[in-house]
Amino acid sequence: MSKIRFKALHDVQHRPAVTFESLGRPSSLFKSNVFGEQAMRQFLSKSTIDSVQTAIRKGDNIDRITADAIATGMKSWALDKGATHYTHWFQPLTGATAEKHDAFFEITTDGHVIDKFDGGQLAQQEPDASSFPNGGIRNTFEARGYTAWDPTSPAFIYDNTLCIPTVFVAYTGEALDYKTPLLKALNTIDQAATAVAQYFNKNVNKVTATLGWEQEFFLIDASLAAARPDLMLTGRTLLGHAAAKGQQLDDHYFGSIPIRVLAYLKELEQECLLLGIPLKTRHNEVAPNQFEMAPIFEEANLAVDHNALLMDVMQKVAQRHHFKVLFHEKPFENINGSGKHNNWSLATDTGVNLLSPGSTPMKNLQFLTFFVNTIKAVHEHEALLRASIASAGNDYRLGANEAPPAIISVFIGSQLTQVLDELEKVTDGKLSPQEKTDLKLNVIGKIPEILLDNTDRNRTSPFAFTGNKFEFRAVGATANCANPMTVLNAIVAQQLIAFKKEVDALIDNKDMKKDDAIFNILREYIKDSKKIRFEGDGYGASWEKEAKKRKLSNNKTTVSALEARISKSTVALFESLGIMNNVEIQARYEIELEEYVKRIQIESRVLGDVARNHIIPTALRYQNVLIDNVRGLKEIYGEDFTAFAKAQTTIIKSISDYTASINSLITEMINARKEANALDLKDKAGNYAAKVKPFFEQIRRDCDKLELLVEDELWPLPKYRELLFVN
Ligand code: ADP
Ligand code: MG
Repeated sequence: MSKIRFKALHDVQHRPAVTFESLGRPSSLFKSNVFGEQAMRQFLSKSTIDSVQTAIRKGDNIDRITADAIATGMKSWALDKGATHYTHWFQPLTGATAEKHDAFFEITTDGHVIDKFDGGQLAQQEPDASSFPNGGIRNTFEARGYTAWDPTSPAFIYDNTLCIPTVFVAYTGEALDYKTPLLKALNTIDQAATAVAQYFNKNVNKVTATLGWEQEFFLIDASLAAARPDLMLTGRTLLGHAAAKGQQLDDHYFGSIPIRVLAYLKELEQECLLLGIPLKTRHNEVAPNQFEMAPIFEEANLAVDHNALLMDVMQKVAQRHHFKVLFHEKPFENINGSGKHNNWSLATDTGVNLLSPGSTPMKNLQFLTFFVNTIKAVHEHEALLRASIASAGNDYRLGANEAPPAIISVFIGSQLTQVLDELEKVTDGKLSPQEKTDLKLNVIGKIPEILLDNTDRNRTSPFAFTGNKFEFRAVGATANCANPMTVLNAIVAQQLIAFKKEVDALIDNKDMKKDDAIFNILREYIKDSKKIRFEGDGYGASWEKEAKKRKLSNNKTTVSALEARISKSTVALFESLGIMNNVEIQARYEIELEEYVKRIQIESRVLGDVARNHIIPTALRYQNVLIDNVRGLKEIYGEDFTAFAKAQTTIIKSISDYTASINSLITEMINARKEANALDLKDKAGNYAAKVKPFFEQIRRDCDKLELLVEDELWPLPKYRELLFVN
């Protein structure tokens, strides 16, 4: 009998219920462990708070005296809360979060013990940076990078450690993380969108990009997961026959949450509230053992940090509840994968959501301006947007028997399609008073404030307008949102800058009224960007054909998608906006290609090992059982034994065929790897995608056939039905 699998199944059945201790009402816990406004008021002087807030609002640096004052207050607060250590908390290009803890505890030269934390320690730390990916920016000889405080994301305490959100940069100045370019992109869109919003309201002084993510994941019992080397090392199942029952009954979606899972989610929510992550929604997803958590949306940089923090906290709390969280985009074949929808909008400091239709024609002209500019931006940079969500894991999801496809398109719903169709017809040049009145009354005046039609209609679009925000749905569940958010905010910023220039030119040179000029430019944008709009079902071959006609990119692998990362238009975009320079752009491209190679390489090795060390020996053991049986039959029945051994001999032969096939496929796959490894990075990645990865499916097919043949008691790996239906 296969010991680990059955021990794991036994474990699951005898799990003690994990008790969960509620610390109080959610609203009373919220931000208890965050050095936010309330804590600041208690521990900082009014003038210090004022300088921090001004610096945050204007994006200025904080001077050393203020930093010292903040550090002193932060330290008292943290010690009060029982913190013993502090760390700069950052997001290197591995996509995960990184931290290096130092104790407050220090011994002075005259032997006294003190708790020390000053402005210098708050502002800067030097983790040994040589082991983080840098894409050749910094070789290990000059392995000097530093982290610098990001005052726009408040410090928090987790596990008795004061965590200070920071950027991570090389001493030569290049960004080594996701946050640095994100902050620059957010600053750029603030300026660009504020300038455009001032056409409609002079009092707007700041525009904030908002993000509300929806995190999907699978929860698998920890013992069952530990019995699967593929889950432990790659986060997904590389083999496993489909369970007789999958998601076809749709009986999991929004169903009642299993007891153990609910206990886990409740404790998780409590931890998150303490950390200021405003989780609001939890529900079952489409696939069995798949769930989703979503917060109230926040300023984009904070939301990105909160998502990265959530993913970390999720794994930690899961350990207590004997679960393993799978964030992989496609942990199970033939079962829905996991995404992380990025809901995005723009909000003014006057309290207006710029992507929300309003109650007056003027408000709606503002809405249409931002709406159309966003569509145009996606049209110009669809390939880059696709690249921003490219990863080895997401390749298994995008367009692979599952929506959304790898083709980026925008869904806006029938009502807004009609509005854009009308706007496309407006007169070239100055509009007559009659036409303008007509437009206001019958077109833009008629956009309802709430677009019911849009909320949930099209689930297959990768980029959908959902009433008062765009929802970028192609983002993978493991992704760090900073990457797509940097791209999205940068392309919209670039577009808004161009828009303002064009409108101003019409006002200045053609003596047009402001709204005439706006109508004229929007009309052109609507025409130019038509091909990115798609209202149909993005799932299937007919859209692929149509998209090809429209010359939209359809990059099915990360390797081809990433090309757009270093295209001329991308370099021009980031350089002109000062978000990244060419060195940083090239470095990221390399890092992402390398990561792709490594992921596929690891999957390939694990698959080879599991197939040779687990599957083939198990199959042969069962074959021996059958051979013994046939031998016995022969002893009893002599030459007549064949009449009694039909099933056995057929299975004996099948086992030989499948094991031989698996064995030779593995050898071929290893050779393909060797060949790929000898090439330079780009060809290597190309070879891994085209020559190594295709073996996965073939090897898996043979292994899965064996799973159906071999006696259940001998099978070593927890089966799909156990992984998906036991909780
Ligand atoms: P669903 O998409 O499931 O129908 P909602 O539309 O209520 O649900 O919201 C989904 C997500 O969108 C939530 O995380 C929410 O915080 C976020 N969201 C709502 N409004 C905005 C906005 N203006 N900007 C960014 N995110 C938003
Ligand atoms: Mg949604």
